[in-house]
Amino acid sequence: MEEARGELRAIVREARVLMSRAVALGAVPRAQSVMAPVPTIQPAPTSNPPVPGPSPESVAEPESTGAWPALTLALPGFEEFASAAPAPSSAIYVPLGPRDDLPQELPALRAQVAECRLCGLCSTRTQTVFADGSATAKLLFVGEAPGRDEDAQGVPFVGRAGQLLNKMIAAIDLKREEVYICNVLKCRPPDNRVPAPDEVERCRPYLEQQIALVKPSVVCALGLSAAQALLQTKASMASMRGKTFAYRGVPLIPTYHPAALLRNPGLKREAWIDLQRVRDLLRERTAA
Ligand code: SF4
Repeated sequence: MEEARGELRAIVREARVLMSRAVALGAVPRAQSVMAPVPTIQPAPTSNPPVPGPSPESVAEPESTGAWPALTLALPGFEEFASAAPAPSSAIYVPLGPRDDLPQELPALRAQVAECRLCGLCSTRTQTVFADGSATAKLLFVGEAPGRDEDAQGVPFVGRAGQLLNKMIAAIDLKREEVYICNVLKCRPPDNRVPAPDEVERCRPYLEQQIALVKPSVVCALGLSAAQALLQTKASMASMRGKTFAYRGVPLIPTYHPAALLRNPGLKREAWIDLQRVRDLLRERTAA
């Protein structure tokens, strides 16, 4: 009975996720989405759909060449795919390329991070957790923050979630040592709590420098914290998932964090769809 209840809960959760996506795409009116009867989903409009968080003016037309397998959106600071419309005044523009005020080599950046005391997490960490994988990787994964195992070993994604990430990487015909893996935060938040906004703000330059130095062809944001930090938005995962964003000219695909997949196995189907898009984009861009 308990197992059946668990399955039922997973189905309900998945239905909520799908409903949120339909609402975000404008296929279902928001008021209708909270009603019990299952609505008839209309085809998504061909014009730009509304996106929560960033200004609608920043939404770009989907690529017509077929080179991008999913809707591509541009957000403030991601100039390559931005529309001609003027940017909202609140937009935060980030420079292209590495920051001059941070080390220009990954080992030096790692050393600087190891000494960092910019936020309170420096007093509770065992050690900083910088990155794992190849510094010349074409695919870069970004997670949220180190957990207990990562804090103890100094390597990202080594616990149960890390083992699942390894399987996800293998599922798209890659090895862990062929990709680059890092987190938004380099120090573990106590009790694995969600990173505080000021911690993200202070730590994000390190992440941006890592991405600028690795120069990946595709970025995959694992979980809401990573997607929100990179795209500088408060949009929900339900509204971002299934789309391809542009981060400084690099396609960015948000998907669920492996820890979320461990908690809610019903989400694995959508995560697999995302991973296949990551794989296809990677092949297109590396072939080009
Ligand atoms: S979380 Fe980031 S900003 Fe905070 S102390 Fe660690 S390295 Fe520095």
